[in-house]
Amino acid sequence: AIKPPQWLEQVRQQATSLGNPHVKVGVTGLSRAGKTTFITSLINQLENHQRGLLARRAPFDRLEAVRWQREGVEQPFAYLQALEALAGEPARWPESTRDLSRVVIDLRFRQTGLLQRVQRSRSLRIEILDYPGEWLLDLPLLGMDYGQWCEQMREWLDAEPRRSLAGPLREALEAIDPLAPQDDQRLAELAAAWTDFLQRSRSEAGLSRNQPGRFLLPGSGIAAEMLLFVPLLSGNRHTRGPAGSWWSVCEARFRYYRDYVVKGFYDEHFSRLDRQILLVDMLGPMDAGQAALADLKAALESVLQSFRYGRDSLLGRLFRPRISQLAVCATKVDQVAPEQQRAVQQCLEDLLTDSLADVRHGGVRVRGFPLSAVRATRQEGDALVAGLQGQAGWVRYQPGGIPEHLPLDLHISGPELLDLRPPAGLHRNEPFPHYRMDELIGWIVEGHAL
Ligand code: GDP
Repeated sequence: AIKPPQWLEQVRQQATSLGNPHVKVGVTGLSRAGKTTFITSLINQLENHQRGLLARRAPFDRLEAVRWQREGVEQPFAYLQALEALAGEPARWPESTRDLSRVVIDLRFRQTGLLQRVQRSRSLRIEILDYPGEWLLDLPLLGMDYGQWCEQMREWLDAEPRRSLAGPLREALEAIDPLAPQDDQRLAELAAAWTDFLQRSRSEAGLSRNQPGRFLLPGSGIAAEMLLFVPLLSGNRHTRGPAGSWWSVCEARFRYYRDYVVKGFYDEHFSRLDRQILLVDMLGPMDAGQAALADLKAALESVLQSFRYGRDSLLGRLFRPRISQLAVCATKVDQVAPEQQRAVQQCLEDLLTDSLADVRHGGVRVRGFPLSAVRATRQEGDALVAGLQGQAGWVRYQPGGIPEHLPLDLHISGPELLDLRPPAGLHRNEPFPHYRMDELIGWIVEGHAL
Protein backbone atom coordinates (compact mmCIF):
# COMPACT_ATOMS: atom_id res chain seq x y z
CA ALA A 1 0.00 0.00 0.00
CA ILE A 2 1.13 3.56 -0.65
CA LYS A 3 1.69 5.48 2.54
CA PRO A 4 -0.14 8.80 2.67
CA PRO A 5 2.18 11.79 2.78
CA GLN A 6 3.19 12.82 6.24
CA TRP A 7 1.46 16.18 6.14
CA LEU A 8 -1.81 14.47 5.33
CA GLU A 9 -1.35 12.12 8.25
CA GLN A 10 -0.74 15.09 10.53
CA VAL A 11 -3.80 16.95 9.37
CA ARG A 12 -5.82 13.81 9.85
CA GLN A 13 -4.67 13.45 13.43
CA GLN A 14 -5.33 17.07 14.13
CA ALA A 15 -8.82 16.75 12.80
CA THR A 16 -9.54 13.76 15.01
CA SER A 17 -8.08 15.46 18.04
CA LEU A 18 -10.47 18.33 17.60
CA GLY A 19 -12.68 15.73 19.14
CA ASN A 20 -16.25 15.03 18.45
CA PRO A 21 -18.27 18.16 18.90
CA HIS A 22 -21.11 18.04 21.31
CA VAL A 23 -24.14 20.30 21.62
CA LYS A 24 -26.33 20.38 24.72
CA VAL A 25 -29.86 21.52 24.07
CA GLY A 26 -32.51 22.18 26.69
CA VAL A 27 -36.15 21.60 25.83
CA THR A 28 -38.70 23.17 28.11
CA GLY A 29 -42.16 24.64 28.28
CA LEU A 30 -45.05 24.72 30.73
CA SER A 31 -47.14 21.58 31.24
CA ARG A 32 -48.94 20.52 28.05
CA ALA A 33 -46.76 22.72 25.84
CA GLY A 34 -45.90 19.67 23.76
CA LYS A 35 -42.42 18.68 25.03
CA THR A 36 -42.83 14.92 25.05
CA THR A 37 -44.43 14.83 21.62
CA PHE A 38 -41.75 17.17 20.29
CA ILE A 39 -38.81 15.10 21.52
CA THR A 40 -40.39 11.90 20.23
CA SER A 41 -40.82 13.47 16.81
CA LEU A 42 -37.29 14.88 16.88
CA ILE A 43 -35.75 11.46 17.41
CA ASN A 44 -38.11 9.99 14.82
CA GLN A 45 -37.17 12.59 12.19
CA LEU A 46 -33.47 11.98 12.75
CA GLU A 47 -33.84 8.20 12.69
CA ASN A 48 -35.73 8.46 9.40
CA HIS A 49 -33.71 11.29 7.90
CA GLN A 50 -33.33 9.57 4.55
CA ARG A 51 -37.02 9.59 3.88
CA GLY A 52 -38.27 12.85 5.39
CA LEU A 53 -37.83 16.53 4.63
CA LEU A 54 -34.44 16.44 6.34
CA ALA A 55 -32.98 14.53 3.40
CA ARG A 56 -33.29 17.68 1.27
CA ARG A 57 -31.68 20.03 3.76
CA ALA A 58 -27.93 20.59 4.20
CA PRO A 59 -26.05 19.20 6.09
CA PHE A 60 -28.51 16.34 6.59
CA ASP A 61 -28.19 15.33 2.94
CA ARG A 62 -24.74 14.10 4.05
CA LEU A 63 -25.97 12.41 7.22
CA GLU A 64 -24.96 8.77 7.00
CA ALA A 65 -25.63 7.35 10.45
CA VAL A 66 -27.81 8.20 13.40
CA ARG A 67 -27.67 6.42 16.70
CA TRP A 68 -30.06 7.06 19.53
CA GLN A 69 -28.36 5.82 22.70
CA ARG A 70 -30.40 3.28 24.55
CA GLU A 71 -27.94 2.52 27.32
CA GLY A 72 -25.74 4.39 29.73
CA VAL A 73 -27.90 7.51 29.74
CA GLU A 74 -28.96 8.77 33.14
CA GLN A 75 -32.74 9.34 33.47
CA PRO A 76 -33.39 8.47 29.80
CA PHE A 77 -36.34 9.90 27.90
CA ALA A 78 -38.97 7.17 27.42
CA TYR A 79 -38.81 7.16 23.61
CA LEU A 80 -40.12 3.64 23.10
CA GLN A 81 -43.05 4.22 25.44
CA ALA A 82 -43.98 7.41 23.61
CA LEU A 83 -43.76 5.56 20.28
CA GLU A 84 -45.96 2.82 21.62
CA ALA A 85 -48.68 5.37 22.39
CA LEU A 86 -48.44 7.24 19.07
CA ALA A 87 -48.19 4.11 16.94
CA GLY A 88 -50.82 2.28 19.02
CA GLU A 89 -54.21 1.14 17.88
CA PRO A 90 -55.98 3.48 18.49
CA ALA A 91 -53.23 6.08 18.47
CA ARG A 92 -52.80 8.05 21.70
CA TRP A 93 -50.70 11.08 22.64
CA PRO A 94 -47.75 10.10 24.84
CA GLU A 95 -47.52 10.73 28.59
CA SER A 96 -46.47 14.30 29.41
CA THR A 97 -43.15 15.35 30.88
CA ARG A 98 -43.13 15.28 34.69
CA ASP A 99 -39.43 15.08 35.45
CA LEU A 100 -36.07 15.78 33.92
CA SER A 101 -35.04 13.34 31.18
CA ARG A 102 -32.22 12.99 28.66
CA VAL A 103 -31.70 11.98 25.08
CA VAL A 104 -28.30 11.38 23.50
CA ILE A 105 -28.08 11.06 19.72
CA ASP A 106 -24.91 10.64 17.69
CA LEU A 107 -24.91 11.85 14.11
CA ARG A 108 -22.22 11.02 11.57
CA PHE A 109 -21.87 13.16 8.46
CA ARG A 110 -20.02 12.18 5.29
CA GLN A 111 -17.38 14.66 4.17
CA THR A 112 -17.14 15.81 0.60
CA GLY A 113 -14.51 17.36 -1.64
CA LEU A 114 -11.04 17.98 -0.29
CA LEU A 115 -12.00 17.40 3.32
CA GLN A 116 -12.83 13.85 2.47
CA ARG A 117 -9.13 13.06 2.08
CA VAL A 118 -8.44 14.33 5.55
CA GLN A 119 -11.35 12.85 7.36
CA ARG A 120 -13.95 10.54 5.95
CA SER A 121 -16.71 11.60 8.29
CA ARG A 122 -17.49 13.99 11.07
CA SER A 123 -19.63 13.39 14.14
CA LEU A 124 -21.85 15.48 16.28
CA ARG A 125 -23.37 14.41 19.55
CA ILE A 126 -26.68 16.04 20.41
CA GLU A 127 -27.64 15.83 24.05
CA ILE A 128 -31.14 16.91 24.92
CA LEU A 129 -32.30 17.79 28.41
CA ASP A 130 -36.07 17.84 28.78
CA TYR A 131 -37.38 19.49 31.96
CA PRO A 132 -40.62 21.07 33.18
CA GLY A 133 -40.73 24.82 32.59
CA GLU A 134 -42.40 25.13 35.99
CA TRP A 135 -38.99 24.54 37.56
CA LEU A 136 -37.77 27.82 36.11
CA LEU A 137 -40.55 29.63 37.94
CA ASP A 138 -38.65 29.02 41.19
CA LEU A 139 -35.76 31.21 40.01
CA PRO A 140 -36.86 34.24 42.10
CA LEU A 141 -36.46 32.14 45.27
CA LEU A 142 -32.70 32.26 44.74
CA GLY A 143 -32.75 35.93 45.62
CA MET A 144 -34.84 35.62 48.80
CA ASP A 145 -34.57 34.32 52.30
CA TYR A 146 -37.36 32.51 54.08
CA GLY A 147 -38.72 35.63 55.82
CA GLN A 148 -38.98 37.51 52.53
CA TRP A 149 -40.74 34.57 50.94
CA CYS A 150 -43.28 34.53 53.80
CA GLU A 151 -43.92 38.25 53.24
CA GLN A 152 -44.45 37.70 49.54
CA MET A 153 -46.81 34.77 50.08
CA ARG A 154 -48.75 36.88 52.53
CA GLU A 155 -49.14 39.55 49.85
CA TRP A 156 -50.23 37.01 47.25
CA LEU A 157 -52.73 35.40 49.60
CA ASP A 158 -54.23 38.74 50.56
CA ALA A 159 -55.26 39.34 46.94
CA GLU A 160 -57.84 37.58 44.80
CA PRO A 161 -58.10 35.01 43.36
CA ARG A 162 -55.62 33.40 45.74
CA ARG A 163 -57.45 34.64 48.83
CA SER A 164 -60.58 32.67 47.97
CA LEU A 165 -58.62 29.70 46.67
CA ALA A 166 -56.69 29.42 49.93
CA GLY A 167 -59.83 29.82 52.07
CA PRO A 168 -59.29 28.60 55.66
CA LEU A 169 -55.67 27.65 54.92
CA ARG A 170 -54.76 31.32 55.02
CA GLU A 171 -56.13 31.75 58.53
CA ALA A 172 -54.55 28.49 59.67
CA LEU A 173 -51.12 29.67 58.51
CA GLU A 174 -51.64 33.06 60.07
CA ALA A 175 -52.65 31.55 63.40
CA ILE A 176 -49.38 29.68 63.86
CA ASP A 177 -46.96 31.27 66.30
CA PRO A 178 -43.61 30.97 64.50
CA LEU A 179 -41.74 30.73 67.79
CA ALA A 180 -43.82 27.88 69.26
CA PRO A 181 -42.51 24.28 69.09
CA GLN A 182 -43.22 22.70 65.73
CA ASP A 183 -45.58 19.73 65.39
CA ASP A 184 -44.59 17.20 62.68
CA GLN A 185 -48.04 15.94 61.99
CA ARG A 186 -49.64 19.36 61.78
CA LEU A 187 -46.84 20.56 59.47
CA ALA A 188 -47.40 17.58 57.16
CA GLU A 189 -51.13 18.43 57.00
CA LEU A 190 -50.42 22.06 56.22
CA ALA A 191 -47.86 21.19 53.52
CA ALA A 192 -50.45 18.89 51.92
CA ALA A 193 -53.02 21.68 52.08
CA TRP A 194 -50.52 24.10 50.50
CA THR A 195 -49.89 21.63 47.65
CA ASP A 196 -53.61 21.28 47.14
CA PHE A 197 -53.96 25.07 47.09
CA LEU A 198 -51.24 25.32 44.42
CA GLN A 199 -52.95 22.65 42.37
CA ARG A 200 -56.26 24.48 42.49
CA SER A 201 -54.57 27.79 41.70
CA ARG A 202 -53.41 26.18 38.51
CA SER A 203 -56.42 24.14 37.53
CA GLU A 204 -59.26 26.40 38.71
CA ALA A 205 -57.79 29.87 38.25
CA GLY A 206 -55.23 29.08 35.56
CA LEU A 207 -52.45 30.73 37.60
CA SER A 208 -48.92 29.86 36.57
CA ARG A 209 -46.77 31.25 39.35
CA ASN A 210 -47.22 28.56 41.95
CA GLN A 211 -44.39 28.27 44.44
CA PRO A 212 -42.58 26.13 45.33
CA GLY A 213 -42.82 24.60 41.85
CA ARG A 214 -41.62 21.19 43.00
CA PHE A 215 -44.67 20.80 45.23
CA LEU A 216 -46.51 20.26 41.93
CA LEU A 217 -43.83 18.51 39.86
CA PRO A 218 -41.33 17.17 42.40
CA GLY A 219 -39.07 15.21 40.04
CA SER A 220 -36.86 12.49 41.46
CA GLY A 221 -34.04 12.73 43.94
CA ILE A 222 -35.64 14.92 46.58
CA ALA A 223 -36.43 13.40 49.96
CA ALA A 224 -40.16 13.89 50.51
CA GLU A 225 -39.49 15.16 54.01
CA MET A 226 -37.57 18.12 52.63
CA LEU A 227 -40.71 19.31 50.88
CA LEU A 228 -42.51 19.65 54.20
CA PHE A 229 -42.56 23.40 54.76
CA VAL A 230 -45.09 26.21 54.39
CA PRO A 231 -44.95 29.99 54.56
CA LEU A 232 -45.68 31.19 58.09
CA LEU A 233 -47.79 34.22 57.34
CA SER A 234 -47.34 35.97 60.67
CA GLY A 235 -43.55 36.00 60.27
CA ASN A 236 -41.41 38.43 58.27
CA ARG A 237 -37.81 39.11 57.31
CA HIS A 238 -36.91 40.02 60.89
CA THR A 239 -38.35 36.93 62.56
CA ARG A 240 -35.89 34.54 64.26
CA GLY A 241 -37.07 31.31 65.86
CA PRO A 242 -35.42 29.06 68.50
CA ALA A 243 -34.34 25.52 67.58
CA GLY A 244 -37.31 23.19 67.14
CA SER A 245 -39.76 26.03 66.51
CA TRP A 246 -42.06 26.25 63.50
CA TRP A 247 -39.88 29.00 62.13
CA SER A 248 -36.55 27.22 62.41
CA VAL A 249 -37.88 23.99 60.87
CA CYS A 250 -39.60 25.69 57.94
CA GLU A 251 -36.68 28.04 57.39
CA ALA A 252 -34.17 25.19 57.28
CA ARG A 253 -36.22 23.30 54.73
CA PHE A 254 -36.79 26.40 52.63
CA ARG A 255 -33.03 26.94 52.55
CA TYR A 256 -32.44 23.37 51.53
CA TYR A 257 -35.03 23.78 48.77
CA ARG A 258 -33.47 27.01 47.58
CA ASP A 259 -29.81 26.00 47.85
CA TYR A 260 -29.94 22.35 46.79
CA VAL A 261 -33.06 21.81 44.77
CA VAL A 262 -33.42 25.08 42.87
CA LYS A 263 -29.79 26.13 42.76
CA GLY A 264 -28.73 22.52 42.23
CA PHE A 265 -30.82 22.33 39.07
CA TYR A 266 -29.26 25.51 37.68
CA ASP A 267 -25.72 24.45 38.65
CA GLU A 268 -25.85 20.88 37.52
CA HIS A 269 -28.05 21.06 34.47
CA PHE A 270 -29.17 24.45 33.29
CA SER A 271 -25.80 26.20 33.32
CA ARG A 272 -24.33 23.50 31.08
CA LEU A 273 -26.74 24.02 28.20
CA ASP A 274 -25.54 25.61 24.94
CA ARG A 275 -28.93 26.19 23.37
CA GLN A 276 -32.49 26.22 24.60
CA ILE A 277 -35.78 25.43 22.93
CA LEU A 278 -38.83 26.97 24.61
CA LEU A 279 -42.11 25.42 23.50
CA VAL A 280 -45.34 27.33 23.99
CA ASP A 281 -48.91 26.26 23.48
CA MET A 282 -50.14 29.61 22.21
CA LEU A 283 -53.32 28.33 20.60
CA GLY A 284 -54.92 26.97 23.78
CA PRO A 285 -54.81 30.35 25.56
CA MET A 286 -55.85 32.17 22.35
CA ASP A 287 -58.89 29.94 22.31
CA ALA A 288 -59.53 30.47 26.05
CA GLY A 289 -59.33 34.26 25.89
CA GLN A 290 -57.88 37.34 27.53
CA ALA A 291 -57.37 36.09 31.10
CA ALA A 292 -55.56 32.97 29.94
CA LEU A 293 -53.33 35.03 27.63
CA ALA A 294 -52.49 37.45 30.43
CA ASP A 295 -51.52 34.58 32.69
CA LEU A 296 -49.46 32.91 29.97
CA LYS A 297 -47.65 36.20 29.50
CA ALA A 298 -46.84 36.50 33.22
CA ALA A 299 -45.64 32.90 33.40
CA LEU A 300 -43.45 33.13 30.30
CA GLU A 301 -41.98 36.39 31.50
CA SER A 302 -40.91 34.55 34.66
CA VAL A 303 -39.57 31.67 32.61
CA LEU A 304 -37.59 34.04 30.39
CA GLN A 305 -35.88 35.55 33.45
CA SER A 306 -33.65 32.48 33.29
CA PHE A 307 -32.36 33.62 29.89
CA ARG A 308 -31.53 37.20 30.78
CA TYR A 309 -27.80 37.46 31.20
CA GLY A 310 -27.35 41.19 31.49
CA ARG A 311 -24.82 42.37 34.06
CA ASP A 312 -27.40 43.02 36.74
CA SER A 313 -29.40 39.82 36.26
CA LEU A 314 -29.76 37.41 39.16
CA LEU A 315 -28.48 34.54 37.03
CA GLY A 316 -25.56 36.50 35.64
CA ARG A 317 -24.41 37.06 39.22
CA LEU A 318 -24.89 33.47 40.38
CA PHE A 319 -23.73 31.43 37.41
CA ARG A 320 -21.86 31.64 34.21
CA PRO A 321 -24.59 30.60 31.82
CA ARG A 322 -23.54 29.40 28.39
CA ILE A 323 -26.85 29.52 26.57
CA SER A 324 -26.15 31.54 23.46
CA GLN A 325 -29.23 30.76 21.40
CA LEU A 326 -32.90 30.46 22.19
CA ALA A 327 -35.61 29.10 19.90
CA VAL A 328 -39.11 30.18 20.89
CA CYS A 329 -41.70 27.96 19.22
CA ALA A 330 -45.48 28.08 19.05
CA THR A 331 -46.45 24.40 19.07
CA LYS A 332 -49.34 22.37 17.66
CA VAL A 333 -49.88 24.81 14.77
CA ASP A 334 -51.38 22.00 12.68
CA GLN A 335 -54.60 23.00 14.48
CA VAL A 336 -54.90 26.01 12.17
CA ALA A 337 -54.59 26.41 8.42
CA PRO A 338 -51.02 26.46 7.04
CA GLU A 339 -51.29 30.14 6.03
CA GLN A 340 -52.25 31.03 9.64
CA GLN A 341 -49.26 29.38 11.26
CA ARG A 342 -46.92 32.34 10.90
CA ALA A 343 -49.55 34.57 12.51
CA VAL A 344 -49.72 32.29 15.56
CA GLN A 345 -45.96 32.60 15.95
CA GLN A 346 -46.21 36.37 15.45
CA CYS A 347 -48.86 36.63 18.19
CA LEU A 348 -46.59 34.68 20.53
CA GLU A 349 -43.68 37.01 19.81
CA ASP A 350 -46.00 40.00 20.29
CA LEU A 351 -46.99 38.63 23.70
CA LEU A 352 -43.33 38.44 24.73
CA THR A 353 -41.96 41.55 23.02
CA ASP A 354 -40.37 43.13 26.10
CA SER A 355 -38.93 39.99 27.65
CA LEU A 356 -37.48 38.83 24.34
CA ALA A 357 -35.85 42.24 23.95
CA ASP A 358 -34.25 41.78 27.39
CA VAL A 359 -33.05 38.31 26.45
CA ARG A 360 -31.50 39.62 23.23
CA HIS A 361 -29.98 42.53 25.10
CA GLY A 362 -28.23 40.05 27.40
CA GLY A 363 -26.50 38.55 24.37
CA VAL A 364 -28.68 35.56 23.51
CA ARG A 365 -29.72 35.14 19.89
CA VAL A 366 -33.44 34.47 19.61
CA ARG A 367 -35.20 32.74 16.73
CA GLY A 368 -38.85 31.80 16.34
CA PHE A 369 -40.38 28.73 14.69
CA PRO A 370 -44.03 27.77 14.49
CA LEU A 371 -44.06 23.99 14.85
CA SER A 372 -46.12 20.91 14.76
CA ALA A 373 -44.25 17.89 16.06
CA VAL A 374 -46.89 15.43 14.89
CA ARG A 375 -49.37 16.75 12.39
CA ALA A 376 -52.86 15.59 13.30
CA THR A 377 -54.78 17.43 10.56
CA ARG A 378 -54.77 17.66 6.79
CA GLN A 379 -56.11 20.45 4.66
CA GLU A 380 -59.01 19.99 2.26
CA GLY A 381 -59.97 23.13 0.43
CA ASP A 382 -60.20 25.80 3.09
CA ALA A 383 -61.16 23.40 5.86
CA LEU A 384 -59.09 21.11 8.06
CA VAL A 385 -59.79 17.42 8.45
CA ALA A 386 -58.87 15.48 11.57
CA GLY A 387 -59.82 12.66 13.90
CA LEU A 388 -61.25 13.55 17.28
CA GLN A 389 -60.24 12.05 20.59
CA GLY A 390 -62.64 9.26 21.55
CA GLN A 391 -64.26 9.02 18.12
CA ALA A 392 -63.54 6.77 15.19
CA GLY A 393 -64.38 8.99 12.20
CA TRP A 394 -63.04 12.18 10.65
CA VAL A 395 -64.41 15.69 11.04
CA ARG A 396 -64.02 18.71 8.78
CA TYR A 397 -63.74 22.04 10.55
CA GLN A 398 -62.84 25.69 10.14
CA PRO A 399 -60.39 26.76 12.83
CA GLY A 400 -61.53 30.41 12.82
CA GLY A 401 -59.52 33.57 12.71
CA ILE A 402 -55.99 34.36 13.86
CA PRO A 403 -55.10 38.06 13.88
CA GLU A 404 -51.91 39.19 12.15
CA HIS A 405 -50.79 40.74 15.43
CA LEU A 406 -51.87 40.35 19.02
CA PRO A 407 -53.82 43.39 20.24
CA LEU A 408 -52.20 45.07 23.25
CA ASP A 409 -55.22 44.46 25.48
CA LEU A 410 -55.05 40.74 24.54
CA HIS A 411 -58.70 40.82 23.55
CA ILE A 412 -59.22 38.48 20.63
CA SER A 413 -61.84 36.15 19.35
CA GLY A 414 -59.43 33.37 18.68
CA PRO A 415 -59.61 30.04 16.93
CA GLU A 416 -62.01 27.24 17.82
CA LEU A 417 -59.99 24.22 18.83
CA LEU A 418 -60.98 20.58 18.92
CA ASP A 419 -59.58 17.70 20.91
CA LEU A 420 -57.55 16.01 18.17
CA ARG A 421 -56.24 12.46 18.01
CA PRO A 422 -52.81 11.70 16.62
CA PRO A 423 -53.03 10.49 13.01
CA ALA A 424 -53.49 6.76 12.50
CA GLY A 425 -50.77 4.56 11.04
CA LEU A 426 -47.67 6.14 12.57
CA HIS A 427 -44.68 3.82 12.65
CA ARG A 428 -41.24 4.21 14.19
CA ASN A 429 -39.53 3.53 10.88
CA GLU A 430 -41.41 6.18 8.90
CA PRO A 431 -40.97 9.91 9.43
CA PHE A 432 -44.00 11.33 11.27
CA PRO A 433 -45.87 14.07 9.41
CA HIS A 434 -44.93 17.47 10.90
CA TYR A 435 -44.53 21.17 10.23
CA ARG A 436 -41.05 22.70 10.30
CA MET A 437 -39.35 20.14 12.52
CA ASP A 438 -36.65 20.01 9.82
CA GLU A 439 -36.03 23.75 10.17
CA LEU A 440 -35.71 23.46 13.92
CA ILE A 441 -33.35 20.48 13.67
CA GLY A 442 -31.31 22.58 11.24
CA TRP A 443 -31.12 25.31 13.91
CA ILE A 444 -29.82 22.79 16.48
CA VAL A 445 -26.77 21.88 14.39
CA GLU A 446 -26.26 25.32 12.83
CA GLY A 447 -22.82 26.77 13.39
CA HIS A 448 -21.11 23.41 13.86
CA ALA A 449 -18.50 22.51 11.27
CA LEU A 450 -19.95 19.32 9.83
P1 GDP B 1 -45.76 18.23 27.71
O1 GDP B 1 -46.61 18.30 28.93
O2 GDP B 1 -45.06 19.53 27.46
O3 GDP B 1 -44.82 17.06 27.67
O4 GDP B 1 -46.76 18.10 26.45
P2 GDP B 1 -47.16 16.83 25.57
O5 GDP B 1 -46.09 16.51 24.58
O6 GDP B 1 -47.60 15.74 26.45
O7 GDP B 1 -48.38 17.45 24.75
C1 GDP B 1 -49.57 17.82 25.38
C2 GDP B 1 -50.73 17.60 24.46
O8 GDP B 1 -50.68 18.51 23.36
C3 GDP B 1 -50.76 16.22 23.80
O9 GDP B 1 -51.38 15.29 24.64
C4 GDP B 1 -51.57 16.50 22.55
O10 GDP B 1 -52.95 16.52 22.85
C5 GDP B 1 -51.16 17.90 22.18
N1 GDP B 1 -50.09 17.96 21.15
C6 GDP B 1 -48.74 17.92 21.33
N2 GDP B 1 -48.09 18.08 20.16
C7 GDP B 1 -49.02 18.24 19.20
C8 GDP B 1 -48.97 18.47 17.77
O11 GDP B 1 -47.90 18.56 17.13
N3 GDP B 1 -50.18 18.63 17.14
C9 GDP B 1 -51.37 18.54 17.80
N4 GDP B 1 -52.49 18.71 17.10
N5 GDP B 1 -51.44 18.32 19.14
C10 GDP B 1 -50.30 18.17 19.82
